[in-house]
Amino acid sequence: MTDNKIKSSAVETLDRYLAAKRLRRTPERYAILSMVLQMNKHFYVETICRAMAESNFRVSRATVYNTIELFTQAGIVRRHRFGNEPAQFEKIVDTAAANHQHLVCTKCGKVKEIKDPLLLSTLSQRRYQAFTPEYFQFYVYGICSQCSRRLKQHKL
Ligand SMILES: [Zn+2]
Repeated sequence: MTDNKIKSSAVETLDRYLAAKRLRRTPERYAILSMVLQMNKHFYVETICRAMAESNFRVSRATVYNTIELFTQAGIVRRHRFGNEPAQFEKIVDTAAANHQHLVCTKCGKVKEIKDPLLLSTLSQRRYQAFTPEYFQFYVYGICSQCSRRLKQHKL
């Protein structure tokens, strides 16, 4: 999908969601949406607060927080929780491309995205009774190479 297509489909999703929930189409909600769509990696609520401040759009932290929550419910972003880290979010652009796996370091909290086509094809062939899967989240917890190097050095 091109950036413009992604944007118009996300705006449509938000329009539909707000109408269905009888919520107001506030400029803040659309400004936060366009900021979220510029994020190419996982982001924190804090990341969006900072980016909004830098673009001189005045919006309270609570509004950003609530709006991202609303996007999660509308299916525009997906929430991840990695261990004790604050929640991280990512935009859902196209389900197939978003089906990646996460390697999470339990020492430093770093998250690496990987694609494991074999695992993905196995997962997507799974069928569940009375349930239609939409996407998967797969986390592998462990220790990253930097932390493992650091751990070894301390032992010496
Ligand atoms: Zn690490």
